[in-house]
Amino acid sequence: MQKHHWLRAGLFAAAASAAFAAAPAQAQGSLVMYCGVQEEWCRAMSGAFEKETGIKVAMTRKSAGEIYAQLKAESSNPRGDIWWGGTGDPHLQAAEEGLTQDYESPANKDLHEWALAQWEAAKKRSVGIYAGALGFGYNTQQIKAKGLNEPKCWADLLDPKLKDDVQVADPNSSGTAYNLLATVVQLMGEDKGFDYLRALHKNVSQYTKSGAAPAKAASLGETAVGIVFIHDAVVFAVQGDPIKAVAPCEGTGYEIGSMSIVKGARNLDNAKKFYDWALTPAAQALAAPAKSYQVPSNKNAPVPAQAPKMSEMKLIKYDFVKYGSSAERVRLLTKWDKEIKALP
Ligand code: PLP
Repeated sequence: MQKHHWLRAGLFAAAASAAFAAAPAQAQGSLVMYCGVQEEWCRAMSGAFEKETGIKVAMTRKSAGEIYAQLKAESSNPRGDIWWGGTGDPHLQAAEEGLTQDYESPANKDLHEWALAQWEAAKKRSVGIYAGALGFGYNTQQIKAKGLNEPKCWADLLDPKLKDDVQVADPNSSGTAYNLLATVVQLMGEDKGFDYLRALHKNVSQYTKSGAAPAKAASLGETAVGIVFIHDAVVFAVQGDPIKAVAPCEGTGYEIGSMSIVKGARNLDNAKKFYDWALTPAAQALAAPAKSYQVPSNKNAPVPAQAPKMSEMKLIKYDFVKYGSSAERVRLLTKWDKEIKALP
């Protein structure tokens, strides 16, 4: 397996170095990357880019809401150059607040419409790099042991037998959990959506910081259910763990994972180089070997065989402009803190 992985990486490196023939792999300056996906994919991306360009990458992995907060805190003295990955909503909020800057990549012509819709919504300050649908993963053994039918719907997660056995992240830090908050509000209406979250709270054992953590916990049997992006549960299912990924029967929301250049980036040219490269099919193909099974935004990039089939799910018409706006994101998060998190 390992060998195969390196073989693929080698093939990729050969293809990419042809594309970057004009840039010798030696000291080419640096790039500070804030990365919003899983650590393994973050490392694959930063490593491959560094190898091909000679640009030294300083990468840190954080959840989407945390990266947004960091950009805001650093806005008078920006430290980061590129924000790669994480749900689109906080990218849109950062764009609206002028924390990121506009850019038009030549690769735009190869992108899916949904990726360009993000770019347009952000007034060119953010672009879609992948898509993934929200759902949950459940531990098959735990569900059986509790005498429950296999959960298929959001409503099933309210069963009292699941008390203290559901995990989901905190929407302040996690892009995944904000996506859930915005999804239930759109799917059920705001009042019913908050009723749902209040009822769910009774079953939630803890609100984690990172969005994907509940998938790992469910795969290990530390919780019966983890509310996550479906692809984050698939990671553990394909490695044989007793976890099943579900696209909820009532319908569900989805994310447009995004990338933005930091306003005032000290290494602006390198940020643009990374941005262009990250949109190529070769760079997007690094996801699957790093166990990330989202749908890539470049039409010519291979879709991982393990990627959940979004066309077969009941997806809501997620209003990215509204739920990525600064006012709406602040309002919903404040309301969630007051009405849900504060509950005993
Ligand atoms: N991990 C993966 C693979 C994702 O696709 C995403 C969302 O884009 C996240 C993590 C989001 O992380 P968080 O919810 O911690 O912001």
